Amino acid sequence: MNNDNLKTTIGLEIHVQLKTKSKMFCGCDNNAEGKEPNTLICPVCLGLPGALPVMNKEAVVATIKTGLALNCEIPKIAKFDRKHYFYPDLPKGYQISQYDEPFAINGSLKIKSQNEKGESEEKKIRITRVHLEEDAGKLIHKNGKSMVDLNRAGTPLMEIVTEPDITSPKQAGEFLRKLQKIVRDEVSVSEASMEKGHLRCDANISITQKSKVKSQNRMSQIIELKNINSFRFIEKALALAEEKLKKEVDRWPEKLTKETWGYDSKKNQIYVQRQKEEAADYRYFPEPDLPPVKSSDFDLSRLKSERHLSEKERLESLISMGIKDKDAQVLLSNSEKELAFRKLSEFTDKNELTAKFIVHNYFGFNLDQEELLKSNQYAKLIDYFSEGKITKSTVPLIAQEIKHGKQAEELLKKYFAGEYDYEKIIEEVKLENKEEVISYQSGKKQLFGFFMGEAMKKMPGANAAEVSNILRKKLDS
Ligand code: ZN
Ligand code: MN
Repeated sequence: MNNDNLKTTIGLEIHVQLKTKSKMFCGCDNNAEGKEPNTLICPVCLGLPGALPVMNKEAVVATIKTGLALNCEIPKIAKFDRKHYFYPDLPKGYQISQYDEPFAINGSLKIKSQNEKGESEEKKIRITRVHLEEDAGKLIHKNGKSMVDLNRAGTPLMEIVTEPDITSPKQAGEFLRKLQKIVRDEVSVSEASMEKGHLRCDANISITQKSKVKSQNRMSQIIELKNINSFRFIEKALALAEEKLKKEVDRWPEKLTKETWGYDSKKNQIYVQRQKEEAADYRYFPEPDLPPVKSSDFDLSRLKSERHLSEKERLESLISMGIKDKDAQVLLSNSEKELAFRKLSEFTDKNELTAKFIVHNYFGFNLDQEELLKSNQYAKLIDYFSEGKITKSTVPLIAQEIKHGKQAEELLKKYFAGEYDYEKIIEEVKLENKEEVISYQSGKKQLFGFFMGEAMKKMPGANAAEVSNILRKKLDS
């Protein structure tokens, strides 16, 4: 069996415990660390009949902030629902969660990953949703008895679900580390300690065997790995599951099945917990005691800018994206420009060029909130320019048309240049580097390479010999 056409697919579901002052729907202290069992409780979190929940706004703000940091859309309306199931640590008999109208949807997070050739590249993992719910209590099994501690019942939990875009156990680890950094350091909504259970991860993994005929693609069962409490263990458990599924390729089931597996870190083994799972019926229905939440009640642009990154960290992140120090400084000094840059760079990997477009105002106008909704369109202009399909002088014209609702792809037909205007671009290089031109002309000929580099950067794929000829003429004149 040829294993080259086996593709691994991984999706993650992460629960993040929020570090709010009080619990999700009552005034009880949310910090249960080191407290005696069952001392942080009240009728609401005990689920006593008639007790009414009150929404903790701090937890909602934390969730929206996280959604924004994960490039999500924030729907106009969100609501809470009851998710019914029975378990001794859930006295109400249902968990207040969010079913079909969560606080954040359709986001993405970029991570560094290695491609097949072992080169480092950026990979985008789509985020399906971010929702808010309450945690259950804890069962403690001791001396043959089981006891329940409800201090944790009602603690705000944020649930983050990814699309199945992760293609290796290593990427899963990379994603989780980056996510931890965001919730802990950037938006600062959780301590995000895995050992303490602030960050809990479930992972789904399956393998597809690709055939030349698409309808003949085969898929393994899905293995769900639950409650693994370290990044390293998740990577290891996923690697074991991946290996197991690949080995069984000839025995894959006809029908889609799902099994829940656990991981024993001492033995470095995975073991089956539950086989052939039916999809549970939680009988969701809208929580009647909590009104829907309108996003217009929150200042979204302020929440978006409230990311706890120091200037130094922001600078470092720009430099790590390949931005020149000078351009990075300009972006940092202007939050609208920085936002525009970060938004566009989600849609194009020409980071350095994107920074230049924003810093030097190549579009001819600033991209405000409204224009940023068309980020993918403006990003296409950058790609077209970098591929030599349009010239710099037409960029502001095309940008104007995008502003008025036209599509970049359509506009490309109208403005296609196909070739670079060598003379003109070299003139631009001269204008942008006047000091260097003077040095060159007063004898510092080794600067030629620098000009060549600048010119070629503007004209990727241009005929270097020809550029060099024209450049020499223009510099000597
Ligand atoms: Zn309470
Ligand atoms: Mn959940």
